[in-house]
Amino acid sequence: MQNPLLSQEPLPLFNQIKPQHVVPAIEQILSENRQAIKNLLAKTKHFSWDNLVVPLDELHDKLNHAWSPISHLNSVLNSDALREAYNECLPKISDYSTELGQNTQLYEAFVSLAASPEFKQLQAVQQKVINDALRDFRLSGIGLSKQAKKQFQQLKQRLSQLTSQFADNVLDATNAWSHLVTNRQDLAGLPEHAILAAAETAKQRRQEGWLFTLEYPSYLPVLTFAENRQLREIMYTAFVTRASDQGPFAGQWDNTAIMDEILKLRYELAQLLGFKNYTEYSLATKMAKSSEQVMHFLEDLGERSLAMAKREFAELTAFAKQSGLSELQPWDIAFYSEKLQQHTYAISQEDLRPYFPIDKVLKGMFAVIQRLYNMRVTELSSVNTWHEHTRFFGISDAQGRLRGQFYLDLYARPSKRGGAWMDECRVRRYLANGELQTPVAYLTCNFTAPVADQPALLTHDEVLTLFHEFGHGLHHLLTQVDYAAVSGINGVAWDAVELPSQFMENWCWEKEALAFIAGHYQTDAPLADELLEKMQRAKNFQAGMQMLRQVEFSIFDWRIHSEYDPIQGIDVQAVLNEVRQHYCLTPVIAINRFQHSFSHIFAGGYAAGYYSYKWAEVLASDAFARFKEEGIFNSETGQSFLENILQKGGSEDAMDLFKAFRGREPRIDALLEANGIADLA
Ligand code: ZN
Repeated sequence: MQNPLLSQEPLPLFNQIKPQHVVPAIEQILSENRQAIKNLLAKTKHFSWDNLVVPLDELHDKLNHAWSPISHLNSVLNSDALREAYNECLPKISDYSTELGQNTQLYEAFVSLAASPEFKQLQAVQQKVINDALRDFRLSGIGLSKQAKKQFQQLKQRLSQLTSQFADNVLDATNAWSHLVTNRQDLAGLPEHAILAAAETAKQRRQEGWLFTLEYPSYLPVLTFAENRQLREIMYTAFVTRASDQGPFAGQWDNTAIMDEILKLRYELAQLLGFKNYTEYSLATKMAKSSEQVMHFLEDLGERSLAMAKREFAELTAFAKQSGLSELQPWDIAFYSEKLQQHTYAISQEDLRPYFPIDKVLKGMFAVIQRLYNMRVTELSSVNTWHEHTRFFGISDAQGRLRGQFYLDLYARPSKRGGAWMDECRVRRYLANGELQTPVAYLTCNFTAPVADQPALLTHDEVLTLFHEFGHGLHHLLTQVDYAAVSGINGVAWDAVELPSQFMENWCWEKEALAFIAGHYQTDAPLADELLEKMQRAKNFQAGMQMLRQVEFSIFDWRIHSEYDPIQGIDVQAVLNEVRQHYCLTPVIAINRFQHSFSHIFAGGYAAGYYSYKWAEVLASDAFARFKEEGIFNSETGQSFLENILQKGGSEDAMDLFKAFRGREPRIDALLEANGIADLA
């Protein structure tokens, strides 16, 4: 039988892919690629763009065609068999990429191309592809001795297992826990949709009553709305102790030792490559230039937000006291914050839900980009997908040329990893046969699935999430760069990656844009001015506290990676406690093990890079400030953003691109202003 992962179809054959296809496909591709590279290096005397970069790109893309759907399915349709097959491939892929990175002959081929007369004739984009490749060779240990190279390979392989195990532990710990409520009185305060969803979950698992889980759409409403304090405490405690030595499953799926080993190996990896520590290694591919610059940036944000945050927390404490609570516990924060927000602004996320039925929001979001960039989005049916909820869309420009396509998978389900993200399925590049491969993306969210005959209704926060991921999607899909290594989101500095996504969120706050994005699901009535004004005022509710929270996570991440000591290791909990002393105003229980499920830095790409969110937010708010000055639907401004940022991908230095759009370097003030954080000092 034909292996669907090896098909030449332009799009993956999702509904034919079975776990048993995974390992054979990957093994076959890796072995063919190895042979092809060997032949290429053996028969070529003078290396050129066409005989080196182009064929390598082709091989890389071939692997990506199979691996992208596998790793995507592992995230959105997880099963024991698939996970096992996926995990079996990880060390194979890791070996392969380490081998490439350490292939001296290949490295020398790039060096000779960079030194050849041809190099100067190449476009700047092509030169960047070659220079990035040379940098990456160095980062993957090309200069190492034979023995050190072997050590490097072992480190990489072990790290890839550990980070995957970290994520599996979080997923297992999340799925293992549930809490059954049998008395309807215990649901007091919860919005109707949350009650319905809990009843549905109970029914699916053949239980009587309302079943709550640690998946975000189930967990969050309880913390925010449940009057029953004990219920909040039970769920909170289970949530913040996931995959740790504490809580209901203490010691089972415990990530403690995994985290320690990850930090140790990252330090060793950095040292092996000649960096002082992992943060220095991380900076080699970032827009930020030094460790001091990052810490200064974070401390500056923290300090300038502290006074505001203190004032907000004092207000919250006083409010809770008035409501009869003598002492705020962590499971009270979201609940009283919501009450205070309602009290102050008389608005709640739930009030807004009826105005954001999913189809209206999607149509509105597509209308926004039509106005900004003159791009048209159309839904395409009869495309092979992995779940009945998945939809598929194409984006075309004013000339009717297809720019890219994307899958949209919106709703939470047990087999799906939590959170929201964009990932690439296909990259823009020219194929060996001369045809253009247009980019394809996956946009994944975890919204509450529609219940009964109601359409899915989003909170405004969820609308922001959707716009955010769509922003990443546009960066990947609207690229005009023809070389895979720097097309779309490829080759973009990590700390600039969040620029297009955070930038996109701004439209969700503008009246002119909400006119298309919002409409009551029953009557299509627009969002009333009064509601909109309240929403805008409520936007910066506790902005100081939120800023501090992100600063806390970022500094924690930065410090555990920069202060790792080869003899003493690092006491992760102690560093976190110390950071919290400076930047966390809210109470923390001793058994809180937030770090044990901090997948961004232990299982994702944000290690020594979590600061990137804030860094990019500065870029995003400063970029949007230009639209505020020139009109939020000013098509010339839109065109300039499209041409200087979205279409350019990683083809130029992120700072240069930003300056080309903004006319100057970014300023931190736009972010503080956008958050209403005044300097109270
Ligand atoms: Zn993002």
